[in-house]
Amino acid sequence: MSTEKKLSERLYMKKKNIYDVADKETLQKIYAFSEDYKKYLDASKTEREASSEAIRLAEAQGFTEYKLGEDLRPGDKKYYNNRGKSVYVFKIGSKPLDQTGIKILAAHIDSPRIDLKQVPLYEDSGMAFFKTHYYGGIKKYQWTAIPLSLHGVVVKNDGTVVTIRIGDEPGDPVFYINDLLPHLGHDQATKPLGSAIAGETLNILVGGMPLKEGDGDGSVKLNVLNILNEKYGITEEDFISAELSCVPAFDARDIGFDRALIGAYGHDDRVCAYPLLRAIFDTDADETVLGVLADKEETGSDGNTGMQCMLLLDIITEISASLGKSSTAVRAVSKCLSADVDAAYDPNFPEVYEKRNTAMISCGATMSKYTGARGKSGTSDASAEFVGYVRRIFAEHNVPWQTGELGKVDIGGGGTVAKYIANLNIDTVDLGVPVISMHAPFEVVSKADVYSTYEAFKVFIEN
Ligand code: MN
Ligand code: MN
Repeated sequence: MSTEKKLSERLYMKKKNIYDVADKETLQKIYAFSEDYKKYLDASKTEREASSEAIRLAEAQGFTEYKLGEDLRPGDKKYYNNRGKSVYVFKIGSKPLDQTGIKILAAHIDSPRIDLKQVPLYEDSGMAFFKTHYYGGIKKYQWTAIPLSLHGVVVKNDGTVVTIRIGDEPGDPVFYINDLLPHLGHDQATKPLGSAIAGETLNILVGGMPLKEGDGDGSVKLNVLNILNEKYGITEEDFISAELSCVPAFDARDIGFDRALIGAYGHDDRVCAYPLLRAIFDTDADETVLGVLADKEETGSDGNTGMQCMLLLDIITEISASLGKSSTAVRAVSKCLSADVDAAYDPNFPEVYEKRNTAMISCGATMSKYTGARGKSGTSDASAEFVGYVRRIFAEHNVPWQTGELGKVDIGGGGTVAKYIANLNIDTVDLGVPVISMHAPFEVVSKADVYSTYEAFKVFIEN
C-alpha cells in the first residue's frame, strides 16, 4: 500500500452507505424491523393513536401504568399516560442514580395535519364541507386532491368520549380537499407556491347527498349531521368539544424496486418514536431509562402535552425521590438523545444543502450537534464533551451514524425538543432518521437508517 493510501485510510473520515457494507444477516434485521415499524405507523396516524399504540406495545412487554406519587423500585417497568396524547415509558435500574443518571430518549408523535375548526360543518352548492385550521408546517398545495381520513375524539355534553377513525380501512369512504382544474388555474399557477392555496380554502369535502326524509329541505349538511348522529350519537354542538384531524389516507408502503425505502405519512417523528420504544423494550441493561413520546412539537412544544410541560421534571423528581436521591443531582448526570428527524440530502434540490454537512440517505442515524436558525438562534448546542462521549460509545459498538445539518446557513433552520430538555441541566444532543420530503403527506426514509437509529438508541441507553 502506498504511503498516501495508508495515510488517507488512517486520517480521512468516510461516510458509508449501510446497504453497501451490510452483510446478509444485517440486511435481514433491517428489513424485519421495518415491517414492525410500518405496522406501528399504520396504527398511529395521530398523537392519540401513537400514544395508545405505544401503551398497547408496552403492556405486552410487561409495563404497567404509573400514577404520579406512586413508589418506584429497581426492576419496575412503567408507563405514564399523559392525557392520551403523550406517553412516558420507563424502567428503573439498580445503579446509584445520582452517579449514573437517567438515560433519556425523547421523540415526538404529533405530525403536520389538517385540524377541524370548532364550528366546522357547512354546505355550499350541493356539497358539505368541514372548515379547517392546519397544524404544523405544511406546504398547503400538497394536501389538496389526495384521499384523507378523519381521526380523533368528540366529547359529548354528557362527558362520553366518541372515538372516530374513518378512511383508513378498505371500503371506508375518504375525504378530500378540492383544487382548481388546470384549465381554470392560470392565475393560480402564476402565484408563488406558498400563497397559491389559501388556508381558508383547505375545506374538507364530506358529503353530496341532500336529506330526502319528511318534507325534505334538501340539506346536504343536515343529511351529514343525521348520518353522524346515527353512527356516533353526536350533534353539531358536539364539534365544539372535539379534536378531529384529517390526515392522508394512505398506509406505509415500500418504495423502489429493491424496497430499500419506506414511504408514509408521519415519519416525522414516529420514525424515531418506534425505535425508541423498541430500544427500551429490548434492553436488559440495569440502567434507569426513560422514553418520552411528546405531543405538540410541530407547534412549538407548548401546553401540558408538549415538551415544555413540567411533567418531565416531575417524573424525574418522582423517580429520584422514590430511590432516595436528589432530583437536581440526578439531572446533572443524566443524558438525553433528542430523537428527531433531520433533512436528508436530496440531489433534486442541491441548492439548499451544504453537502459536506448534510445527512445522506442510508448512511445511518444522524446527529445534529446544534439546530436553530441564522446565527444558531434557538439551539441548545451540545457540548464537544457530550458529543465525544456519544461518538465513543457508538464507535465501540459499531453503530453506523453520521452528522447532519438542516440545510445551508441562513437558508435552512429549525428546532427540536432538545433545548427544553437541556434547559433542565441535562446533556442533550439531537439524533434521528434523515427524511426526504419532510412534512409532505407522504415522506420517505431508508430502512437502513431506521434500523441504525434503533441500534444507536439501544447502545446509548446501555452505556
Ligand atoms: Mn420532528
Ligand atoms: Mn416536523
